Amino acid sequence: MASPRTARQRRRARRLRLTITSSVLLVLVVVVGISLSHSKTSAASNSAGVVRDRPTASPTSTPSQKPIPVATAKPEATMSMPPKPSSVTETSTDAGAAPVINHVNTNDRVVFLTIDDGYDLDPAFRDFVVQKKIPLTMFLVSQAAAVDPGFFSSIASVPGSSIQDHSVSHANLRGASLATQTRQICGNITAEKALFGKSPQFLRPPYGNYDATTQKVAAQCGLKALILWNVSMPSYKIYFASGNRLNSGDIILLHFRDHGGVKNMNSLLQTIHDQGFSVASLTDYIK
Ligand SMILES: [Zn+2]
Repeated sequence: MASPRTARQRRRARRLRLTITSSVLLVLVVVVGISLSHSKTSAASNSAGVVRDRPTASPTSTPSQKPIPVATAKPEATMSMPPKPSSVTETSTDAGAAPVINHVNTNDRVVFLTIDDGYDLDPAFRDFVVQKKIPLTMFLVSQAAAVDPGFFSSIASVPGSSIQDHSVSHANLRGASLATQTRQICGNITAEKALFGKSPQFLRPPYGNYDATTQKVAAQCGLKALILWNVSMPSYKIYFASGNRLNSGDIILLHFRDHGGVKNMNSLLQTIHDQGFSVASLTDYIK
């Protein structure tokens, strides 16, 4: 039979074990909670609760699910000036509707980089694309751009880069009223003119969703075209229009992210370089 002192020791030991067990459980709950809330935030919405584009591939093709190996080598040199086009796509809004373009009709060995939204700012990514002089067509949500216009201005200072219309608050335009679409599309033009001193020429409807009203409003507000895409890179994987090759005139969809942008851009530039293409400016090819 145990002495009273030993029994007390046993009780103390049991209490200690209980305390340790519950501390471990508490830590686990907190860790799981943090990672759940983090993944929820990065998957669906920003801090303002605005739902961003789902990672998506071409609207006109079935995406290849085959991952490409992530290149580790860096492209050899800083990009030179974007090549000048051997042909230009002339747009027309004579019919009262802005045309929809998801691929540039050219035989030049060029592709176009487009990058959307602007909620998540990564200074390392900005510095990288500015230093490498990568021409980016930025489709910005004007409410997001207004938070730190200088971030986007510095990227726009790269020759061939430009700031374009992605609506005021990332609204789904398809099926929206004329008044709503006008507010979203033309309101972005007013806001971007005030922020950057220059009006956008192109609209990318959020989610790639548009209808006849979108085309009509875009034309009325002076935009030349709706620009969609036929290749996308939601994170590190490229979803090609077909197979695993780029084609002349491909329009590649990217998003501003708060991390991983430099690594993914390096990988993309490597692929573009390896397949014999260079990055050109959309504003040079579509007039
Ligand atoms: Zn978007």
